[in-house]
Formats: sequence, C-alpha cells, structure tokens
Amino acid sequence: MNTNRYAGKGKCFTARIYRLRVIGLGIGSFCVASVLTELHANLLLWALLIFHGFIWPHIAYRVALAWTVPYRGERVNLMVDAAFGGFWVVAMRFNILPSVLILALLSTNNIAAGGLPLFVRGIVAHVVGVAVGVLTLGFAFAPQSQMSTILACLPFLFLYPLALGWTTYSTSQKLAAHARELERLSQTDGLTGLWNRRHWEGLLAQQFELCRAEKLQSCLVLFDLDHFKRVNDTRGHAAGDAALRSFAIFLREHLRPEDIIGRYGGEEFGVILPGLSLADAETIVELLLLALRSRASQSEGTLLCTTSAGLSGHRPDMTSFTEWLMEADRCLYDAKSNGRDRLVASYADSPSRQR
Ligand code: GH3
Ligand code: MG
Ligand code: MG
Repeated sequence: MNTNRYAGKGKCFTARIYRLRVIGLGIGSFCVASVLTELHANLLLWALLIFHGFIWPHIAYRVALAWTVPYRGERVNLMVDAAFGGFWVVAMRFNILPSVLILALLSTNNIAAGGLPLFVRGIVAHVVGVAVGVLTLGFAFAPQSQMSTILACLPFLFLYPLALGWTTYSTSQKLAAHARELERLSQTDGLTGLWNRRHWEGLLAQQFELCRAEKLQSCLVLFDLDHFKRVNDTRGHAAGDAALRSFAIFLREHLRPEDIIGRYGGEEFGVILPGLSLADAETIVELLLLALRSRASQSEGTLLCTTSAGLSGHRPDMTSFTEWLMEADRCLYDAKSNGRDRLVASYADSPSRQR
C-alpha cells in the first residue's frame, strides 16, 4: 500500500470507533467489575480495568490520529481491544455471560470494521490475551454467572448493539448521499449544469423507445452557436465560458420544464421536446432564435452570438435514435450552409425545409 496516497485516510472511521469505544468499554467495564467484586480481585486488576474502560479509549483515539494513515492505527487499536477482551475472560475465570458478551461484541466490531480478515486477526488477538492472562493470573475456571453479574451485563447487552446499529445506519446514509452526488456529477456538464452528452443521449434513446411504443410525437433540436470561435478570439476564453453558461440559462428560461436539455459538445446543445408536433416545435424554436438574435445584438450581456438549429420530429419509420439524431444534425448542417442564425426542420415528404 502506498502510504502517501492513503495519508489521512480513516479520520472519520477513527472518530466513529472512538465514540463506540467510549460507550462499549465504559459500559462493558461494569460487567467485568461485577465479576471482579465477586472474586475480591486485587487493586492492580481494578486499576487496569479503570484504565481500559475509561482512559484507553481517549489514548487510542489520539494514537490512531498520530498515524500517517489513521485507519491503520485504528486497526491496531482494535487488536489491542481484542487482546484485552481475552485477558478479561481469564481475569473473570471464564464467567460465561460477560465472557461471551465481551468476545461477541468485540468480534462484531472487528467484522464491521474490516470484514473477515480483521475478524480472524481479532480471534488470534483474543488467544494472545487469554495466554497473557493465564501466564500472569494463572488458570481458574468458574463459568457460573450470578444474578448481580447478569444484571450488570444488561445495559451492555442492550445499549452497545444499539450504538453500533445507529453508527452503521448513519454511515450508510452518508454513503448513499455520496453515491447520489457522484451519480449527479457523472450525468451533468460541469460548465453549464445541463445533462452531459452521454446521459442526454441515454435520455434521447429512452424517449425514442417511448415514442415508438406509445405512438407519441416528439421532436429533437440541435443548436450550434454561430462563429463562437470569434467570441473566444476577441473576448477571451473566460467570456466564451460565460456565454456558454448564459446560453444554457437562456434555453432553460425559454423552454418548458419537461424539455430535456443537454450540452452535446463544445458549443453545441441538444434538446428533446417531448409530446410536441414538428409544427409546434418549429414555432417554439423560431421564437427562441428571435429572442436570442435581439439579445445578441445588444452590446451588454453575456449572450454574445446567435445560433443555428436543426429540428427533426420522431417518425415511426426511424429504426434507432441515432437516425433521429443524424437527421437533426443534417438539418443543422443545412442551417449553417444557408447562412447561420436560422432553423432548418426536417419533414418526411421534403427532407429539409428552411424558414
Ligand atoms: P460555426 O458558426 O461554423 O459553428 O463557427 P464556430 O466558430 O462556432 O465553430 P467551430 O466549431 O470552428 O468553433 C467552436 C469553438 O468553440 C472552438 C472552441 O474553442 C470553442 N469551444 C468549445 N468548447 C468550449 C468551452 O468549453 N469554452 C470555450 N470558451 N470555448 C469552447
Ligand atoms: Mg460546433
Ligand atoms: Mg459553432
């Protein structure tokens, strides 16, 4: 693993585990304390329990954050927790309820944090903890749990899974929000906020299928800004970018909310007009060109050029959405060849009609 690449990774994870550790070890110490009371344990064990339950979570947090990759530091801390778990099982003389509870919840933590590999390493750490316990305290076996121990275990049994469940839920909510944001970013154009070409073409394919299946009428229009290179050459690239953004806003303002607008290329835009006949679409696009012409002739503002447009209506004889697109593109080409700042629409009887 390249350390530089992962530097800082796991800060949120560390904060999440910190909260769980404060809750888990804090409440868990009462289970152990109940058995230590029963066994009249020595002061050293009590001091160790207070350290582990109430001081160690704060040290562990700072230690993990001090690692270049906090995630790795936290995984080491989890192994320390697992080893402590094994040790406490020996110190409690294998008292059945707190032992099973502590080992089960530590293992759940390890699975949640690192899947099967961390779970297996956690088991090894439990065994190491047990070995250290047996070597330092000796082996004694008294599995019977008294009522006082059972009662002391209940808050741990109830509250820790609740905290773990809540943490898992809020993490999955954050992941879902990130996934939605990533999806949005992968579908939109960064400059104009319109659909990007790939996504827009997907929507066009869907509209094509809808028109075919439900015998709907719909239109497709392609725009290409006129002499846009001049805008860049005379006013600079930033002004060009601003003009593209303004054109996107202009389209949004002059079209219906259900019209599907995409940035097709550099200074080319595509619009799907669902449910419109070719004649209605022509009227709308002509009005749009008229409005743009008047805006572009003003010296102020960021709409700096006119546009040419190619319009094509969906026809049942079209075999694919690319055929629909190519027809609109041919019309756009004709609009450019015939002098720009105009609309050319395609009709089945006459391939291309110009206004
Ligand atoms: P025509 O009327 O024939 O369409 O002329 P044109 O100058 O618009 O056509 P051309 O395709 O030669 O030039 C398009 C220009 O659009 C070239 C390119 O630098 C510019 N362009 C493409 N994408 C961007 C962009 O994101 N920002 C800016 N500022 N310019 C862009
Ligand atoms: Mg172009
Ligand atoms: Mg152009």
